[in-house]
Amino acid sequence: MRCGNCCRSIGHILPDFDTGNGTCKHLQNNLCAVYDTRPGICNLETVAELVCDSRFVEHTLRACLALCRRFGDEEGVKKLEKTLKKAQIF
Ligand code: SF4
Repeated sequence: MRCGNCCRSIGHILPDFDTGNGTCKHLQNNLCAVYDTRPGICNLETVAELVCDSRFVEHTLRACLALCRRFGDEEGVKKLEKTLKKAQIF
């Protein structure tokens, strides 16, 4: 899913990248302009490998769901609710 919602909520996580409204300065056309060199915190696969357990997955999915709700991304909400139900988390 390339929703970009995380990249529009970085104020507390990557303050140096914040354009002032929580959106990353590298988010262009809903894609990361520095994808190959993005900070480690932006690479969920790397983070998941470091802290791979079911709680990390659950927290990540719940954070994504909250962001989709915040930005009115109904498609994202449906997909995440379905994933959480499938994983018997929701
Ligand atoms: S660096 Fe890229 S992946 Fe990280 S918040 Fe900015 S746009 Fe998103």
